[in-house]
Amino acid sequence: MRCNVLILGGTTEGRRLSELLAGDDRYRVLLSYAGRTEHLQVPRVPHRVGGFGGATGLAAFLREGAFAALVDATHPFAARISANAVEAAARAQVPLLRIARPAWRERAGDRWQLVASMREAARALGSTPRRVLLTIGRLEVDAFSLAPQHDYLIRTIDPFTPALPRARVSCARGPFRLDDELALLERERIEVIVSKNAGTDATYAKIEAARALAIPVIMVERPTLPPAPETAHVDGALPWLAGIHGDVLRRRGA
Ligand code: NAP
Repeated sequence: MRCNVLILGGTTEGRRLSELLAGDDRYRVLLSYAGRTEHLQVPRVPHRVGGFGGATGLAAFLREGAFAALVDATHPFAARISANAVEAAARAQVPLLRIARPAWRERAGDRWQLVASMREAARALGSTPRRVLLTIGRLEVDAFSLAPQHDYLIRTIDPFTPALPRARVSCARGPFRLDDELALLERERIEVIVSKNAGTDATYAKIEAARALAIPVIMVERPTLPPAPETAHVDGALPWLAGIHGDVLRRRGA
């Protein structure tokens, strides 16, 4: 007997977990994407794209799809869907597990300034014009119109036209290599990096490169999420799911 598992994705973890489960005949997996990136890397597993219509819509989706488990494998900055997942799981009485990848920690040689929001990051750049590498995605770039005096190199997955007078967009998708990041920072004479504390290995090379070149990093801290059972790694979801599969079998008397 297979049990239905809904994975909220948009991350490497979501893709990896869904691929692991797709090869396991205890589960029928569905991977969900918000549909933010124009060029979705189509996964090799059943998937859907688009919002559910808030916590209410997600609860209905869980019920209608007879899902036995919900895994929130979204990005640590995707706070709304994570809050919706907690509420929807409670309403639909479906067990929820969050994959919460550990945050990066400041190490010797790092020159981080921690900020709580993009607006604070923009203000932290100061009044003197600087050459800034902005690696925060494209959706929150508008916050930097508070600080239009800087030269921005904005790295995003999809192209877009920023509403900033001195900005260029460079489209690239991780993982990024240390050598390439060092070369980029030197070639572009970057003086400061703005980053979210994403915690993923795929984009950590810029932090190592900044350390090596003594470049400061304005680090946007993670939003606080409502409490939920968590695991730090994809592998931690496997025993949890096996437990749920066992419960489903017991309930059905199989
Ligand atoms: P968000 O602000 O937390 O969510 C906004 C809305 O998007 C949600 O209320 C939900 O719409 C929909 N949504 C988000 N994730 C979804 C998913 N996996 N499946 C279906 N609907 C989803 O999210 P966000 O920060 O815009 O991130 C959107 C997606 O991009 C997430 O899947 C996340 O994992 C990925 N991502 C985000 C970041 C980041 O920095 N925020 C970085 C890399 C990847 P409804 O309320 O209508 O259901």
